[in-house]
Formats: sequence, C-alpha cells, structure tokens
Amino acid sequence: MARVLLVEDDDAIRTSLSKSLSAAGHAVTPLATGAEGVASVARDRPDVMLLDLGLPDLDGRDVLAMVRSVSDVPVIVATARDDDASVIKLLDAGADDYVIKPFSSAQIDARIRAVLRRLGSDQQSEVVSLGGLEIDPRSREVTVDGVPVELTRKEFDLLLVLSRRAGAVVSKRELLADVWGLPWGGGDRTVDVHLSWLRRKLGETAAEPRFLHSVRGVGIKLAPANPAAQPGPAVQPGPAAQPGPAAQPGPAVQPGPAVQPGPAVQPGPAVQPGPAAQPGSAVPPGPAAQPEAARPASGAQP
Ligand code: CA
Repeated sequence: MARVLLVEDDDAIRTSLSKSLSAAGHAVTPLATGAEGVASVARDRPDVMLLDLGLPDLDGRDVLAMVRSVSDVPVIVATARDDDASVIKLLDAGADDYVIKPFSSAQIDARIRAVLRRLGSDQQSEVVSLGGLEIDPRSREVTVDGVPVELTRKEFDLLLVLSRRAGAVVSKRELLADVWGLPWGGGDRTVDVHLSWLRRKLGETAAEPRFLHSVRGVGIKLAPANPAAQPGPAVQPGPAAQPGPAAQPGPAVQPGPAVQPGPAVQPGPAVQPGPAAQPGSAVPPGPAAQPEAARPASGAQP
C-alpha cells in the first residue's frame, strides 16, 4: 500500500504496470515525461518513484538528479543496461534500486515493498549515542559534539546500519545488502565513495578516524570516539596567538575548554620483547643452516 509515482513514456508498459500495481493495492500516479515526474515528486510527495531512464524529454539520470535535489523519495530505476558500471553510476546518483527491462510487475511490486521495508524499519527506533555522535532514526538527524551534520539519505542509512552494529566490523558486502539492497554485491566502490563522503561530514579522515574505523580486507567498524584522537591544532591561548590589531587587551583570548591534555598520552602495555629478542641459546642451528650438504649432487635423482 504505497503511493507510487510511475514515470514511463511507453504507453503500453505504463498502462499495464499502472493496472497491476493498482491491483496490488498501490495508489499509482502514471506520468509520461521526466518534467511531469519531477513536478509530481515536489507536489505530491509519493512514497516511492519508479523511473524509466529512457524518456523523450529529459535524460533519466538528469531526472534522478533533479528529484534528488528536492526529495529523498526512494527511486527505483528501470533500465535496459545491466552492466556493472551503469548500475554503479545509477546507485551513486541516488537510485535506491533498479530493475532491468523487461521486468514483471510482480518483480516491481516486490522491489517496492523491499525499499519501503528498508526505510520503514528505521521509523520506530531510539536515538543512538556514541561518544559525541548522536543519530536519531526518526527525525533522521545526526549531530557530532552537538553540532548538526547534514547527510544525504544514503549517507544516513549507511551510518545507521553501522550504528546498529556498533563495535562490530561490518563487511562491504553486508553494507551493499543492507543499505543498497544488493545482496549479490558488485559495487564495493559505491560503499567506498559514500564512506569517504560520510567521513568528511563527520570531520574525520581514513588516516585519522574518529568514528569510522576501516579494518583492511574485512570491512568497517563504527566505534565511539577516542578522546585521545583529538589532538586539535593547538588551542594555546597565549597572547601570541592573535597578533592582530592589538586593541583587544583583555578577555578576548578565550582559551576554551578544549585543552585536555589528560588521557591523551596512553603509553599502552609496555612493549614486550618476546622470544625473538633473546639472542643467545634459543636459536638452534637447525638443518636449514646446511644448505650445501642437503643439495643432492646433479644427476643423483633417478
Ligand atoms: Ca522509455
């Protein structure tokens, strides 16, 4: 039971899809052009959009971009091309799922339900709080240290999926399945691209992660911020910091609470030298030390 916006220029396909989706209980708005589709998204706020990429008036990818600029509506794209590169391009451009033409109305209905299920499951959840990072699944708002962070829908979904399994490593394959609905994988780069966008917005880098920790060859782990990971560019209050117009003698220099030298220096468990560091008797000479003797003379083998 969803309000489905169907944009398809082929009269026969549009009519038959419209009929079968209505029969499945959906309220369908069938339109034939990209321009009408974009206008309808803004005006009618459908639950899901089914978008044919080959339209007479606008390129389907442009329609997708226009829709994304005004709405987070889930978009299922119908395309004739199923090569990896095209599919990844569509997903990166903001599509939630895709179907390859020709497709059955039963498949479309299943995909519509799957997309809505993925979104709907997030609607009744508690706020997730992880050391400075707060995620509200209902309002879909995220803050870092109390400061709101603007995320795209996919970035938010990615963060939410990771937060549901905070502390555990989640593989890219699992993320493709849970965030993009692609259990068969095939778009690691899609995950990487969204992760890097997400990192930038959370104020971290792969080299200096605060929340998103890559585990090479395995996946990504969302973990609470480590206070030691914020060395910060020297909040040293001294008067030298603001050489400026010298007209601010008094309290102008706010040292700020950020200077917490405390736990930053964690030397960790002292380095244990281990057995390798014992030079003396521990290393038996072993047979390996006699390479020449072990080598058979040429021609010795039968
Ligand atoms: Ca078409």
